[in-house]
Amino acid sequence: MPSTPEFQQTLGKIAGFTGTALHTGEKVTLKLQPAPVDHGIKFKRKDLQDEPTIDAKIENLKTVERATTIGEGSVRVHTVEHVLAALWAMGVDNAVVEMDANEPPIGDGSAQPYVDLIRKAGVSAQEEPRKFFDVRDTMHVESKTGALLVLLPDDKFRISCTQAGPNNKFTQFLSMEVTPTAFEREIAPARTFVYYEDVKTLMDKNLIKGGSLENAIVVRGEAVLSKEPLRFPDEFVRHKILDIIGDLALVARRIRGHVVAVKPGHASNAELARLITREQTRRSAVAVSRAVPSGDGGLDTDQVMQILPHRFPFLMVDRIISFETETKCIGVKTVTINEPFFQGHFPGHPVMPGVMQVEAMAQVASILLFKLAKTTSRIGYFMSADEVKFRKPVLPGDTIFIHAELTKSRGERLAKAKCQCVVNDAIVSEAELMFTFLDK
Ligand SMILES: [Zn+2]
Repeated sequence: MPSTPEFQQTLGKIAGFTGTALHTGEKVTLKLQPAPVDHGIKFKRKDLQDEPTIDAKIENLKTVERATTIGEGSVRVHTVEHVLAALWAMGVDNAVVEMDANEPPIGDGSAQPYVDLIRKAGVSAQEEPRKFFDVRDTMHVESKTGALLVLLPDDKFRISCTQAGPNNKFTQFLSMEVTPTAFEREIAPARTFVYYEDVKTLMDKNLIKGGSLENAIVVRGEAVLSKEPLRFPDEFVRHKILDIIGDLALVARRIRGHVVAVKPGHASNAELARLITREQTRRSAVAVSRAVPSGDGGLDTDQVMQILPHRFPFLMVDRIISFETETKCIGVKTVTINEPFFQGHFPGHPVMPGVMQVEAMAQVASILLFKLAKTTSRIGYFMSADEVKFRKPVLPGDTIFIHAELTKSRGERLAKAKCQCVVNDAIVSEAELMFTFLDK
């Protein structure tokens, strides 16, 4: 890991160009614009009402046939991978990609026009450090079509790629560390290549109106058809690396790891991006096991068990850390992998059931009521749970802070409480509970 932090970067100024959209064949103007820290890369549809934006994130991935399409709601942007690869590899973390159509200009089928544009706009450092995904254990995805992507720990972002055409024709291999200099020189000029059989049907159906030998190399049998000679003898594998960089940009974090790819395609690239994002989500959830704040007048486990009749495995509060007022308190529950519910919820993918969180809220709220009523000779029954929201998964290793506040109590027998479960300072679930108390 580098000893000095790397800082986020954006563009120095706005830069744009106009070209032809691949699928519609129409003119499109694309503008790259600077954006603030932690903004990430967003696409903006200038041609639509209210100019909606779409986050370049794997959650927004829609389709991966031939090109990568992202969308939010009914808004789509197609063929985002080359502009994303250029921004990401040239070190731009935050930017708006504004377009007046649903896809960028195809240019010459490479990332060169976007690199030129980034050069024109300039790249400038921002004040926040970059966010990284450090590969810890080997991860991999494998598809039925023969694509295999393995991600290995590495302190750099490296790609080693093997490309192979039908019957293993045009088999090429290249391994590199992805840096702005290497990308600009070795990868950005590599153009899209297509197999004649694949594009013929699309051309016949008029689905690639903007497609021509100006913006793709066409492979027909042994023949390589293109407007100009190949830019590299191994141009195909270089373009495959370009697509991997563009698709993995959807992780929206800098990857420190080594991608070993065999016959990759957009589908398998996206699958790897999804796997990384899932692992990152899991890590964020368990990352901070925050110290339990000490509060006056809390209850230890023994005292909790004197009040609550619940016992293992149904005691869902370890202790009460503080009573803020008579009607407000915070309980704590450390969730371990040994909780019985993890065995079946779910095998290999442990997530705490939402109902158990509601149960934890109910137990903390009833402690408030027992204290208020100064008796434990009653038993609380749940009557309703309203406004229940589960916002984030709770995973083994999490410490849940259970906030409960009595909002209404009618006599000593009916009470309403507003409750929240908090993990790592984020609300993971909330509910409004009503219960009644009956004599045992
Ligand atoms: Zn491509």
